[in-house]
Formats: sequence, structure tokens, C-alpha cells
Amino acid sequence: MSKPMTIIEFMKLFPDDDACLEHLFKARYGYDHECDKCHETGKWHRLSRMPAYTCQCGHHIHPMVGTPFHKSHTPLQKWFYAMYLFTTTRHGVPAKELQRQLSVNYKTAWRMGHQIRKYLALVDGDPPLSGHIEIDETMIGGHRPGKRGRSAAGKTVVLGMAQRGGDIITRIVPDVKRTTLERHIIYKVDRNSTISTDELNSYKRLSMYGYRHESVNHVQGEWVRGEHHTNTIEGFWSLLKRSISGTHVHVSARHLSKYLGEFEFRWNLRHDPARMFPHLLRRLATSQSRA
Ligand SMILES: [Zn+2]
Repeated sequence: MSKPMTIIEFMKLFPDDDACLEHLFKARYGYDHECDKCHETGKWHRLSRMPAYTCQCGHHIHPMVGTPFHKSHTPLQKWFYAMYLFTTTRHGVPAKELQRQLSVNYKTAWRMGHQIRKYLALVDGDPPLSGHIEIDETMIGGHRPGKRGRSAAGKTVVLGMAQRGGDIITRIVPDVKRTTLERHIIYKVDRNSTISTDELNSYKRLSMYGYRHESVNHVQGEWVRGEHHTNTIEGFWSLLKRSISGTHVHVSARHLSKYLGEFEFRWNLRHDPARMFPHLLRRLATSQSRA
């Protein structure tokens, strides 16, 4: 298990904008990037007057073009520091804190936070979960406690699938009908898996699809039966909900998928936190974000 990057390590790696640009170049093009024009590899050096690199033949590349850093007035090092904060927190980074730590105005901080979240929430097309999976749904947002089984006003239903010792996958769903939930489960959980849920009727037919399924009856106060419980996914819900209510005034349904993706990202890399920052940087450098 790796350790998360410390602030000292961050400052050593990224002492200024130039160092950040160098890392962005490497993350985007690698060490031996081939020139489109002369087809030589690895003959790049930094131009002094602009954030760009030139090949020995005179061909230029601009590592920031096509990334959120391009056309941003915020210096690259502040972006990197914001990404650092997102990969070292447990509870998320509110815009207020970004504003304070980066000395930027609130609007800029808010925008940066959402940009970074978009990339945290990118779906990499991970393989389906397998092994022992806990499945549960929850309702997020709105002002009144909602009743299960119907979507209470302003609330968003989220389905969560947690592989014990492995990844979590969440999906925003329109309702908790059996057909709705089954569709996502069949798609994302390997057929030979064991599944633990609670007593909700919508989960009752999972064994018909080849799953070894058991439920615990929360309504009757039963929390564990043998190896079956849903503590992992419930731990994830409570971290998510505490963080949302503690650090964010309101999370709209529109933005919720990004918050879910952000928490999934950290959860799924929890055993290897040193990978979080480089992983996020690679996404910003190379991917198209989930708009
Ligand atoms: Zn060249």
C-alpha cells in the first residue's frame, strides 16, 4: 500500500508553473513522443517564451491545448495544487476552501472544482465486479426524509454495488423498481458472484440470474447473517452523505453524478493513494471529460 503524497513532496515535484508544464507534457505525450512532422522521437525541448515544446525540426506542441488548463487565467501550479487537494482529502474539497487555499475568487474556485470533478468522475470502462458484492440503494438530496420505493420530492435515487475488498460502482437510477435495478446489476456484476442485499423486494429475483444471493432483513433488525451484510456499501453512503452535507451547501441532481464519481475515484484507489494524483493528471491531460 502506497502513501498519499505529502505537501513537501508536492512542492518538490511541482515547485513552479514550468515544472507543472513539464509533468503535463510527460503525462500527455510520454518520454519518447514521435514528432508528427519529422518522425524523430524524444527530440523535444521547452520554448522559453511560451508554454510549448519544440522538436529539433521546429514543429511545436502545446501540452495545455484541449485540457481545462488551456485559456484558464489561473496559473498551472494552482491547478495542480487543487488536484492535489482533491486526491488527498477524504471528504471532498468545497469551493470555499479552494478559494482560500489558492487565493482565487469564489467563481474561479467553484469552476475549477467542477472541472476537476468531471475528470475524477470519468468512467474508464472498468471490468464488471466479481466475488462478493454488496448492493444497496439510497436517496440523496431534497429537504425532507424520503420514503423508500418512491422518489420523494427533490431526491435522487442512487444504486451502489460494492465488491468486498475491491471497487464500488454507483449509478443514478430513476426508481427502485426491480427491472430498473436488475438491469444495472446484470450489466455490472459478474454472474458467478455472491450478492448481499437487504430485504427490498426489487432484489428478490437475483438468484434467477445465477447469482448466489442472500438478504438480511433490516426492517426486522437483522444486520448480519453469516457472511451476508451490507456494511461496506453503507459505509460508503455515510461517508458520501456526511461529506455532501458537511462541505457542500447543496448538491443538485445535475452535479450529483460528478460527486459520486469523485468519491468512487478515491474509494477505488484507497489502497494505493500515491496513484491518485498521477492518475488524475493523466485523465486531465489525455481524456475528453464527461460534459
Ligand atoms: Zn520534428
